[in-house]
Amino acid sequence: MWEDNIRRVVPYTPGEQPGRRVIKLNTNECPYPPSEKVIRALKEADYESLRLYPDPLCLKLRERIADYYGIGPENTFVGVGSDDVLSMCFLAFFAGKLPVLFPDITYSFYDVWAAVYGIPCKEIPLAEDFSIRLGDYPHENGGIVICNPNAPTGVVHPLSEIEEFVKKHDESVIIVDEAYIDFGGESAVRLIGKYENLAVVRTMSKSRALAGLRVGYAFGSKKLIGYLNDVKFSVNSYTMNLPSLVGAAAAMEDEEYFQEILGRIIKTRSRVSEELRSLGFRFRESGSNFVFVTHPEKDAEEIFEKLRERDIFVRHFNRERIRNYLRISIGTDEEMVILIKALGEILGKKGADE
Ligand SMILES: *Cc1c(COP(=O)(O)O)cnc(C)c1O
Repeated sequence: MWEDNIRRVVPYTPGEQPGRRVIKLNTNECPYPPSEKVIRALKEADYESLRLYPDPLCLKLRERIADYYGIGPENTFVGVGSDDVLSMCFLAFFAGKLPVLFPDITYSFYDVWAAVYGIPCKEIPLAEDFSIRLGDYPHENGGIVICNPNAPTGVVHPLSEIEEFVKKHDESVIIVDEAYIDFGGESAVRLIGKYENLAVVRTMSKSRALAGLRVGYAFGSKKLIGYLNDVKFSVNSYTMNLPSLVGAAAAMEDEEYFQEILGRIIKTRSRVSEELRSLGFRFRESGSNFVFVTHPEKDAEEIFEKLRERDIFVRHFNRERIRNYLRISIGTDEEMVILIKALGEILGKKGADE
């Protein structure tokens, strides 16, 4: 009988985290370590103050992030990874009766948050080429979530299109999830002073190599961030622990290393894209740290299994429209050489560079 009172949900399925050393190209982590400055700040942190609660306002970290982007700390919110930030955004911004809109193919956590919070939602199909059909979003809605570059497709929309969209839907809160924007694409952070209804959500998990630290952040108008804070302080005041506050602040201070690893990943992505094309894979140019590929002659799930047998993990989504696709994170050059060789063997071809 007690089970009648349980909130039953179908949870999000995160990518596998195997406990052994494999070539791990399945959850879009950064293949390079975090900045030395982060490691040093973590080593030198004042751990005696762990007996105290951390700053509930996370002011120093918010100031550091705000300075970096040239906005105010009152326009900045931080959370336990962008999953926490997005979850709080769903809870705070989508309390209306009309359905919240997002693409049919996008980050598969959105419909999970909608379900757990009882938010009505509606999926708007992507175009055949996986572009987001921004013109198809009805004016009547309870809010909109757009991921740019989109996941798992990697497709980027130019900032001009995003601005046009935000301007047109001025009666809705628009969340732009920019988890991958550093890898290609122009951030909507510049628009927050202009549109009160816009929230831009970012993460340190991908481009700043800190998935394990769990730090995400959001930008918005002072009013919108105020509503977000009211909900956060109604759920958990002390979301950010001491190491994450210290480490994340340090991550914003090593621009040189940040640009260096971004450059490396982008260079590897362009080389690997060419090699995948010569193996017959088809895909759109990616603006993120992964490629989303399909092969006309070989079933994606079969390739997935055969890579797995070789301890190479990529991501396959058992979902309509994308069952025959694989999402492959960009790893180090060494890892990608092994991947390409394995794919060549699986497809019964010689290695790409032979
Ligand atoms: C990885 C990812 C996130 C969440 O990342 P966190 O590790 O929780 O910061 C959010 N949105 C998209 C589209 C992602 O790919």
